[in-house]
Amino acid sequence: MQAFEIIQQARQDGRSALDEAAGKALLQHYGISVPRTIVVQNAEDAEDAVAGLAPPFVVKVVSREILHKSDAGGVRVNLQPEQLQEAIEAMAALPKIASATVEGWLIEEMAPAGQEMVVGGLLDPQFGPLVMVGLGGIFVEVLGDVSFRICPITRLDAEEMIEDLKGAAILDGARGRAAVSREAIIDALLKIGGEDGLLMEHAGDIQEADVNPLIVSERGAVAVDARFILT
Ligand code: ADP
Ligand code: MG
Repeated sequence: MQAFEIIQQARQDGRSALDEAAGKALLQHYGISVPRTIVVQNAEDAEDAVAGLAPPFVVKVVSREILHKSDAGGVRVNLQPEQLQEAIEAMAALPKIASATVEGWLIEEMAPAGQEMVVGGLLDPQFGPLVMVGLGGIFVEVLGDVSFRICPITRLDAEEMIEDLKGAAILDGARGRAAVSREAIIDALLKIGGEDGLLMEHAGDIQEADVNPLIVSERGAVAVDARFILT
């Protein structure tokens, strides 16, 4: 499927947002790494379905009614193939999941450990697409440590966006942790907010983009969650 077809398909299905698998497919079109992912409908199918993938796995609920999957208990990490069925059955029984319409279960490979970043964007009525970056977790949620630019951004803009973060030093390795690849963050920002980037090419369709988190290691970055709200 072409990138625009992913969006077209979601609209035909009456959706106002891309589901996670579609969001990741869109990111992949723009050269952003995402985990190898499959979606199953039934818990019993999970173990066979992951035959071609490398454990351990993450399982997530797929439901347009559940926006914050972890809050609903809908994300389990670090699972071996033989643990998948039971994990899905346990998640399906949780109140917030049992009461929602579940479209399936997304199973994917674990990304290499690293610093969690947030990369996103939104369509501003005055300025058009904006791109955003922040450090993941409490940095964004509690401290609001984010940096915005109007698209399209250049490489220099991307470098400055990262430097503008109050917590930028974390990326250089704090508390004995290894430094993560700034290059990988810059690359992801350009693929999303650059000249031929995702936000510029789909400015008429994407109201809000949220890659949370992009997990950045010493060697690269992987988008493990993706949410796109359509205009
Ligand atoms: P939500 O934001 O809807 O709660 P996420 O898909 O972001 O759900 O998953 C929650 C957390 O689980 C992520 O912030 C990340 O820490 C971890 N996680 C999710 N998918 C992966 C993955 N493929 N590899 C490693 N960690 C993951
Ligand atoms: Mg998330």
